[in-house]
Amino acid sequence: MGEKKAAALLFAACIILLLLVRARYSAPSCPGCNVLMITLDVLPASHLGTYGYSRNTTPNIDAFAAKSWLFEKAVSPTHITFDSDASILLGRPIKKARLGALAMSAPNYFMERAGLAGDLMLPEFLLRKGYYTFRRSCVDWAFPRGLGGDFQERVIGDCFVPGASEWEGLDEAAPAEISRLPRPFFAFYNSFYLHDPYDDGNVTPFFYPEYPGRLRNATLDFMRSYVANGVYYGTDTGNESWELSAEDLAWIVSRYDDKLRREDEAVGKILGFLNESGRLGDTIVVITSEHGEELGASLVHQSFGHGGLSAQTVHVPLIIRVPGAKPRRIGSLVQTTDIYGFLASVLGFEPPRGVSKTALLSGREYAFSFEGRDSGKGGSVITADGLKVQRAVEGNLIVSRVDFGTDEEIPSDERAPAWLIAAVDREIAKSS
Ligand SMILES: [Zn+2]
Repeated sequence: MGEKKAAALLFAACIILLLLVRARYSAPSCPGCNVLMITLDVLPASHLGTYGYSRNTTPNIDAFAAKSWLFEKAVSPTHITFDSDASILLGRPIKKARLGALAMSAPNYFMERAGLAGDLMLPEFLLRKGYYTFRRSCVDWAFPRGLGGDFQERVIGDCFVPGASEWEGLDEAAPAEISRLPRPFFAFYNSFYLHDPYDDGNVTPFFYPEYPGRLRNATLDFMRSYVANGVYYGTDTGNESWELSAEDLAWIVSRYDDKLRREDEAVGKILGFLNESGRLGDTIVVITSEHGEELGASLVHQSFGHGGLSAQTVHVPLIIRVPGAKPRRIGSLVQTTDIYGFLASVLGFEPPRGVSKTALLSGREYAFSFEGRDSGKGGSVITADGLKVQRAVEGNLIVSRVDFGTDEEIPSDERAPAWLIAAVDREIAKSS
């Protein structure tokens, strides 16, 4: 073969490859479609069946994911709900401390002060495009524009009432609400049902009913008293503390999984309604979480709750179904802050300045999450192959390896590359 011919062939091969790559990542289109976003707070990806969990916790979400796009490596911007919601709706990480208390009383003033005067949060952006914006939650956070005042309609239910309702009544209310919303709509349902205490008043354990240990009769309020580093600090038993056995840990995780199973049933009711009423034909559905939860799996933290940045607190599920788009599992690294730009592009709009419309499709070199504690500046970056570099609030660097399949995190003594250290410090400065 002549050199010229070989070059021409190579060129053709490159073009074909480029077209294939483009086809693989080309954005779906759904102008005028409704958007339903469901966020299930406190949900690590590793506890869903479709993400590889050994228990059948989420059969309904799994079945829906099989008909959707599933992002295997989606990372939340932080481990705190308020900050995460604000960041998702702004399309990039933004820390509450930067927003400040002013956000509650003088949103527009605050936006200017924070240098965000020209920015539009997603509800407000869609409102200006003719969308009806609706939010149901059990927390009446007044977000600065967007997630508070500028949802045209807000319904606030009850939070943290064990046994009072299944899934805070979201599943009961949603079908009627979705049916009556003017179209096109952006409806944002946000559930706190999975939050500790892992006690929803259901006294019959589904997972691990044979547990023989002493926590069995403790009120499940124990999660309020925190189980840290393998030690249970009881309150219901008079503040005694003891080291948890493997069975005790499994019992606690099982109570969380029980709740997740019930959460999944409730989500299943809403998805079933969308399907039966034909609304899946013109509604984009997004299912994700504000942040995950440490459930004792991390070898770095071995703790519970979501007080810090770990694989379990920032690796979250992300499932998106766009009418007409073929199902697929996407292995590239993305962030939940990329949802905004993606939705804008699918709906046929140019997203506002600073919001990327391609990040969700192209993937990221690293995912950034910031330390949610108000006073501290810290954050972490994770690469697609699981290298995590964290700048602790105290200033030191922590390097670990993350397994996106299990959310296990193992300390590493490898040297963090300079570009990654620079990245985490740059992102911390930008977001806080
Ligand atoms: Zn939360």
